Amino acid sequence: MKGMIYLEKRFVYADNSATTRVSENALKAALPYFTQNYGNPSSIYSLGMDAAKAVLAARQQVANALGAAKVNEVYFTSGGSEADNWAIRGAAEIGAKKGKKHIITTVFEHHAVLHTCEYLEKQGFEVTYLPVDDKGLITAEQVENAIREDTCLVTIMFANNEIGTILPIPEIGKVCKAHNVLFHTDAVQAVGHIDINVKDMNIDMLSLSGHKIHAPKGIGALYCRTGVNLPNLIYGGAQERNKRAGTENVPSIVALGTAITDAVTDIEEKNAKISQMRDKLIERILKIPQTRLNGDAERRLAGNVNISVRGIEGESLLLTLDLKGIAASSGSACTSGSLDPSHVLLAIGLPHEVAHGSLRLSISEENTDEDVDYILEVLPEIVKKLRKMSPLWERICRTEGIHDYTLD
Ligand SMILES: *Cc1c(COP(=O)(O)O)cnc(C)c1O
Repeated sequence: MKGMIYLEKRFVYADNSATTRVSENALKAALPYFTQNYGNPSSIYSLGMDAAKAVLAARQQVANALGAAKVNEVYFTSGGSEADNWAIRGAAEIGAKKGKKHIITTVFEHHAVLHTCEYLEKQGFEVTYLPVDDKGLITAEQVENAIREDTCLVTIMFANNEIGTILPIPEIGKVCKAHNVLFHTDAVQAVGHIDINVKDMNIDMLSLSGHKIHAPKGIGALYCRTGVNLPNLIYGGAQERNKRAGTENVPSIVALGTAITDAVTDIEEKNAKISQMRDKLIERILKIPQTRLNGDAERRLAGNVNISVRGIEGESLLLTLDLKGIAASSGSACTSGSLDPSHVLLAIGLPHEVAHGSLRLSISEENTDEDVDYILEVLPEIVKKLRKMSPLWERICRTEGIHDYTLD
């Protein structure tokens, strides 16, 4: 194409908390299981046994990544949502048999947890939704104070998917163990970013999802400690120790085994690089007037940036960023399909107006310094342009006596 001017459009993917690109390693590991080793793991001839071996090896990889005592403590699921549903409804069933129908969770869980708890409330369970503080944190004491004689489950996320706060899971695990209450954690955002050891942390059940750690969508796992009599999820064949019937998703299971092994390797080195990019983004974006960081500055996922930008709507910001080739997220109305802003941002006390204008950038080890520089080059200009057209921004400046820099 000599002689032609051609502008390559930049693309920056900064939405890794929503999903991730499948890694080359995971893809390469999975591919043979589509067209060559396509046997059913339940079949007794070699082709089937090869698939069964691959599933077992992946189960071992997941168990190793979590510090599980035994390989059969890992159950493959269709993803994080299914693992959350299974753990919570399972624990509720176990509890109900003993007359224990009280569950403790937090107000800012993922909807896979919250909506399962709401369903159980309709079934006669009582749920305590612990409030989080303005940084998005809770304490183990809050959990301890909420535990009752009839508490059958504590389910608290390891790290929040919107504002990136990391909760005191080892401390909460200790409290649950002392009171003999089952402890489940939705660790979908934590796996591969925080060192996890289910034994040391007294975690009885843990949910994880493949597509948040560079494995495909539609695969995940539930860790369930030996001794917890997890009820069946799907009746049928003998897969997943008779508890979740259905022929295994062998290629995705193999990919998950590879992806989780890679994810938990050199976490510290990766986090050092990622958090450096994160901190540069936060520092520079906060230089834009009337912005605030959501979530805790210290106890924060290495790749999470969540900033409220007053006076503009999150979705107009996202659409304008998309035009510039930047993929990001917001906690505002339309993106989440409802009229209310994110329950997480409301839970940390943001007024609706501020919550509506929030921006989440979630970066991974695949991002580069050039990505960061490009975002920082584009974002302040976009904000200024959108504010200039925003009646809300004009009103904020007028009523609060703020200098309107967009008119300079
Ligand atoms: C993405 C996510 C889920 C859901 O996982 P899926 O595999 O998409 O079902 C659950 N919890 C958290 C915290 C998540 O970020």
